[in-house]
Amino acid sequence: MNGLTHKVALVTGAANGIGFAIAQRLYDEGANVVLADWNEEQLATAIEAFDSTRVAAQVIDVSDPKKVKAMIDNAVSRFGKLDILVNNAGIHIPGSVLESSVEDWKKISAVNIDGVVYCSKFALPELLKTQGAIVNTASVSGLGGDWGAAFYCASKGAVVNLTRAMALDHGAAGVRINAVCPSLVKTNMTNGWSQEIRDKFNERIALGRAAEPSEIAAAVAFLASDDASFINGVNLPVDGGATAS
Ligand code: NAD
Repeated sequence: MNGLTHKVALVTGAANGIGFAIAQRLYDEGANVVLADWNEEQLATAIEAFDSTRVAAQVIDVSDPKKVKAMIDNAVSRFGKLDILVNNAGIHIPGSVLESSVEDWKKISAVNIDGVVYCSKFALPELLKTQGAIVNTASVSGLGGDWGAAFYCASKGAVVNLTRAMALDHGAAGVRINAVCPSLVKTNMTNGWSQEIRDKFNERIALGRAAEPSEIAAAVAFLASDDASFINGVNLPVDGGATAS
């Protein structure tokens, strides 16, 4: 793979799980990386794993547009530019529409939709300067419906189509915008799920197992790299075959 030396990347939701694995992979490929997360304590622990001046920590709630704008400005003043934005921060709240509350919808849409919109909006002026790339962490739950997670599915469906629309709008100016769509991944988000729900997911995954966060990170690193220079507007299933049937 074309390395990411001299690139500057910002990863949201980077204190844990998939986001942490993405930050590690981009760093290993040579990028300077801003790890952004709203959990200050876990972010401090995550950043310790690097022991390097090529990384920076940013406490952020991605659903706060003013703070998101300041985060992008901070990243650029710290590393001089921005080449890669990974919109990965997300939350999952189970439930059908009937079971879920209005508060649940506000919470999930604020992080999973508004957060992606705000980070993209304020990063794009910088990405236009560098002919950069955005990679969103969507989900197979955004490609089709799933049982018992209606608001989550709606939020990830929004990310899938936002990815396509942004790719159309900004491709001509040289910014590529893609997404990865994982199925079940071993992270804090899914650790608490019952065995029954996990089995239901695994049955649909042709490889018969959940993914490691590093397997999602590898796909993100590829989409962010120059090796993917002609890939734009794609929502790539990284799902062990869950959407193959
Ligand atoms: P995780 O809970 O392990 O990590 C999510 C991180 O996002 C946490 O560090 C959390 O503090 C941070 N975060 C949450 N809300 C935030 C906010 N408002 N501002 C800033 N940071 C915030 O979960 P994960 O499984 O690593 O999920 C990462 C992404 O992958 C999410 O978008 C999720 O929807 C998506 N995804 C996960 C799976 C899975 O099976 N785990 C499958 C498909 C997609």
